[in-house]
Amino acid sequence: MTTDFSGYYKKTRTERIALIKEFASLTAEQAELLESSSSANSLHIETAEKMIENVVSVYGLPYAIAPNFLINGKEYAVPMVVEEASVVAAASHMAKLCKNTGGFTAKASNPIMIGQIQLAKVKNFETAKHKILEKKTELLILANSFDPLLVKMGGGAKDIEVREVQGKRGNYLVVHLLVDVRDAMGANAVNTMCEKISSNLEEITGGEKRLRILSNLAIHRTVKVSGVWSKEDLGGLEAVERILDAFDFAQNDMFRACTHNKGIMNGISAVTVATGNDWRAIEAGAHAFAARNGNYTTLSWAEKTQEGNLKVSMEIPLAVGIVGGATKVHPLAQLSLKILNIKTASELAEIIACVGLANNVAAVRALAMEGIQEGHMKLHAKNMAVSVGAQGKEIEKIAEEMIKIKQVRMDIAEKLLKEIRK
Ligand code: NAD
Repeated sequence: MTTDFSGYYKKTRTERIALIKEFASLTAEQAELLESSSSANSLHIETAEKMIENVVSVYGLPYAIAPNFLINGKEYAVPMVVEEASVVAAASHMAKLCKNTGGFTAKASNPIMIGQIQLAKVKNFETAKHKILEKKTELLILANSFDPLLVKMGGGAKDIEVREVQGKRGNYLVVHLLVDVRDAMGANAVNTMCEKISSNLEEITGGEKRLRILSNLAIHRTVKVSGVWSKEDLGGLEAVERILDAFDFAQNDMFRACTHNKGIMNGISAVTVATGNDWRAIEAGAHAFAARNGNYTTLSWAEKTQEGNLKVSMEIPLAVGIVGGATKVHPLAQLSLKILNIKTASELAEIIACVGLANNVAAVRALAMEGIQEGHMKLHAKNMAVSVGAQGKEIEKIAEEMIKIKQVRMDIAEKLLKEIRK
C-alpha cells in the first residue's frame, strides 16, 4: 500500500498523524505518543534525569515529518526536529521534485571510526612506529577483547595507523585505531578501546600516554549521495544556470561556502536530533571534512546533465547510530527509527545525507531566484507576532497585515497588536 502524502502541509495535525500511522504501520500506542506529545510526556522527566546532569525540566522542539523521499528506490517519510521555519517544507518539496527523476542515490561506506592515542616523549619515532606495526595483531585482539558484543555483530578494531604530529611543545606519536562500529555512533566504544590499549602502547614505544579519544573527523565513514532535478521543475534552463553560478561562488569563497554548508546542515541536524543522535559530532565532522584539503569549501557540488537538468552530489561524514547513546532512551528517537523503517545505521546515514542535499538544493535555488526571504516570511511573521505577545486569532491577523504591507518587523507587530487591542 502506498500512502498519499499530497497536500500534507495543508492537513490538520490529526490527519497528518493518521497518514504517518498508515505509512509506518504504527501501533495505536505509538500514534498516541505523537498525538499527545508535548515536552512533558514525550520525554518523561525521569528519563531525562537519567540522560544528563542537573536536570530541572524538559525542553520541547517542533517534531515534523518530511514525506516524499525516494532513496535507492525506497520511499521514506522523514522525521525532523528543528526550530527554524521553512526547513521541513524545503526538504520535502525538493524531495518530491527529485522523485520525478527517479529519486536520490546514496551509498554509505563501512562504519569505520578513528580513535586517537597521543603519545608524548617518544625518543625514536621510526623505531616506535615499526614496533607498533609489528604488534598490530596483538593490539587489535586486545582492543577487541573489551567489546565482545561489537565483535559479535561483525565490528571491532580492524586496523592501526601511526602518525607523527608536530607541536610547539614537542612532537607526538599519534596512533589511529580504526574501529568498525556497526550500528553505533561509536564514541564510547572507540574511547574505551583507546584507553585500554594505551598502556601497552607506552610499553612498546617508551613514550607517555596523553589523550585517548575518537576523532569526529570520520573520513572513513562517509555517505556519497546525488540527485537530479529537471530544468522544468527548477524554473527553466536559466534557473539551472543561476544555480550553477551559485555553486561556483560557494566553492570558491569561504564566506559563502560556510552558509552553503549551513543550508545542508539544516536538514542533517534536524534528522540527527529527531533520531536521538549527537548533532555536535556531526556538525564538527562535516565542517572539518569541508576543510580537509586545507581550504574550507562546499560539501556539495553541481553539474548540468546532457539534458540540461541539474545534478547535485555530496560526500559527507555521518557518524550516526541506531543503538547506544540517546537513540534507545528517548521515546521519540525510537519512534523516528520506526517511522523510517530502517535496519542499519548506514541506512540512516544515507537518509540523513539525502535530506541535507534536498535542503541544500532548495536553499540555493531560492537564493539564485527569488531570494530566501519570500518563502521564510509567512512563518517568520507569525513567530514575530507571537514574540510581541499576540494570542489566538491576533497572530494570523498581525502576520497577514505585515506581509500585506511588506513590513515584517518587530516594531510593526507591536503597533498592530496595540491597534487590535484598542
Ligand atoms: P554506546 O556505548 O552506548 O553503545 C555502543 C555499544 O553497543 C557497542 O560498543 C556494542 O557493545 C553495543 N552494540 C549492541 N548492538 C550493536 C550493534 N548492532 N552495532 C554496534 N554496537 C552494538 O554508544 P556509542 O555509539 O559507542 O557512543 C555514542 C555516545 O557517545 C553518544 O551519546 C555521544 O554523544 C557520546 N560521545 C561522543 C563523543 C564525541 O563525539 N567526541 C565523545 C564521547 C562520548
